[in-house]
Amino acid sequence: MSRLNFSIAAEAAGSGARAAAFETLHGRVQTPVFMPVGTQATVKCQNVDTLRESGSTVLLANTYHLMLRPGTEVFQAFGGIHRFMNWDRPVLTDSGGYQIFSLPHACRMSEKGALFQSYIDGRWFLLSPETSLAMQKAIGSDIMMVLDQCIPSTASRPEAEAAMELTHRWALRSLAARGDSPQALFGIVQGAAFPDLRAASAAYITSLPFDGFAVGGLAVGETKEQREDLTEAATALLPRDRPRYLMGVGTPVDILEAVHRGVDMFDCIIPTSLAQRGTAYTSEGRLHMRRGLYRLQDRPLDPACTCPTCRLYTRAYVQHLIKAGETLGWHLLGQHNLYFYHRMMQEIRAAVVDGSFPGYYGEKRESWARVDGDDAATVHPKPRLPRRMLLGDYEVLTAPQGFSSIRQNSSGEVMHSVSNPVEEARLLYIEQSHLGARLRATDAPELVIWDVGLGAATNAMAALRCWEEALLTHTSGPVRPLRIVSFERDLNPLRLAIRHSARFPHLHHAAPSALLRGAHWEHPSGRLRWTLLEGDFLAQMAAAPRPDLIFYDPFSFKTDGPLWTPGTFARIADATARGATAFYTYSTSTAIRAALLWAGFYVARGVPIGPKAETTAACTHPGCLHVAGYPALPLLDRHWLERWERSGAKFPAGVAPEAQAAFEARIRSHPQFADAGAGDAGRAHAAAGMKGYS
Ligand SMILES: [Zn+2]
Repeated sequence: MSRLNFSIAAEAAGSGARAAAFETLHGRVQTPVFMPVGTQATVKCQNVDTLRESGSTVLLANTYHLMLRPGTEVFQAFGGIHRFMNWDRPVLTDSGGYQIFSLPHACRMSEKGALFQSYIDGRWFLLSPETSLAMQKAIGSDIMMVLDQCIPSTASRPEAEAAMELTHRWALRSLAARGDSPQALFGIVQGAAFPDLRAASAAYITSLPFDGFAVGGLAVGETKEQREDLTEAATALLPRDRPRYLMGVGTPVDILEAVHRGVDMFDCIIPTSLAQRGTAYTSEGRLHMRRGLYRLQDRPLDPACTCPTCRLYTRAYVQHLIKAGETLGWHLLGQHNLYFYHRMMQEIRAAVVDGSFPGYYGEKRESWARVDGDDAATVHPKPRLPRRMLLGDYEVLTAPQGFSSIRQNSSGEVMHSVSNPVEEARLLYIEQSHLGARLRATDAPELVIWDVGLGAATNAMAALRCWEEALLTHTSGPVRPLRIVSFERDLNPLRLAIRHSARFPHLHHAAPSALLRGAHWEHPSGRLRWTLLEGDFLAQMAAAPRPDLIFYDPFSFKTDGPLWTPGTFARIADATARGATAFYTYSTSTAIRAALLWAGFYVARGVPIGPKAETTAACTHPGCLHVAGYPALPLLDRHWLERWERSGAKFPAGVAPEAQAAFEARIRSHPQFADAGAGDAGRAHAAAGMKGYS
């Protein structure tokens, strides 16, 4: 029997959205509901009166932080958080699982729980299902959460499976620890990004007598589309007669999309943390109150808003407070943003109740995408034309989504043209190569990366950050030494990006400037070295140590033709001494894949990035793309070969008409396309065959 007496008032036709209500020990809650985050038994820069006035009904408090300070005995002495902080409405406490997840290097996980050291006074704490529940009972929250093991949604399957099973065992222990307390308790569905694990987790957790269910482990690394798909799949598996809570989400559009998929409860730090940075959510979009534009504006933040900030103060005054660093500015913006969020939740609920939600959803998802956007141009339709940022043949471009890239003006080519360069570098080169896992291979010799096409150092810095992160989080042995060798002919793109480094946050580090000055940078530990080989790649290649990984990112064939020929790939294969080298590139050109096959590489379909459905990965042995515990990339198969044979663009440039038959024969006899079982013989044959061409 549920302790919350959850009831549904209305459900939207053609949508998962619903308007519901439940009863807690401190009053009734109408959903969908947004819960402001009150980490330290206070919502930052607000007091309980302004919270009530902005429409807050439930606050979220963090068990982990309150356990460390002020500590369980303070809550016991005061009879709970309500009297302690003078808040008489409901409170939900999280279990501490998420905080433990975000401090993995300071914590030891075991079946029993997470043992961690206080960041305040160095004392050791055990956060277990039992201690978490004891603390939440002392806090006296209306809704408690089970302790779960949260992992990144990008985790490998074995990690995700293990975390899910531990979470299930902890769920049982949490229920036992709750006992006959009148406080409600929510279960958490885990399973990372694996739909079958999520389904298994939902089936198990919903079989237990929880008062509500949370979808956990989202908003920690997946894309927006993935999150929406996972949310939809997860809510479909949750019972209709219990509240559903999506933890840690999100922006207005994220919330709208999740309501549409059947979620009732949300929490997020966005309204108050953006207020601290001077940002206001308004019906006209996001305003960045630090901008000089508002200095003389004698009008409210949002003319459509009736919050106290908008009723009583001008944009000019709010801007002055923000620029002067006055906490009143943070307070006023925070109150307005919370008001904006709560009013949005009320509008959503009203639309579900009066049957207009489908139309409302269609209209608002577009205008709220604008509200979510970080681009001043959408707020102020005619921005001043920015001064062009040029150096040599290169120019800085800024996309409407806010990220910047470098364009070569003579060719018109944009470096990382399809999506945010930093994101592209992470997906295509760092995650796809499982660099983090490779760096955690203790006792392995120095890992060598060839970074072909330094550009604005996006790929090299992604590798460097990955190593630094491994250094921070890897506690079971020394991190593997890393050597990055960057090849570049023209250093102007990097100079230009450093000159405008506000637009290239990945360069906020001592290394790129040091590399420009002295062609070398070394981490103080001596275990990470970054070297620049300036000049033509083919001429410089001999000076570089044998690579384990190659990030191949020159301009396209049109601009950098010589770097995409069969002969060049054969020279690269030679430089690897046909050792275990994995090669990644953005190109998916059929002719370029054929050139790689001809040079003796095994070629696989790489991960998608942005709008591109796939990229290309290659390796000198079929096994060296694979890292234990992660799914293998699919090698091009016979279907690809058949399509290649029919293709009108099958031969790379430089293959003379009289050489085409031999080229074709060599692709056809590549061991990659040999029938299963013929593998080893096929490889030996290929190795012998390759010799004549290299
Ligand atoms: Zn307002």
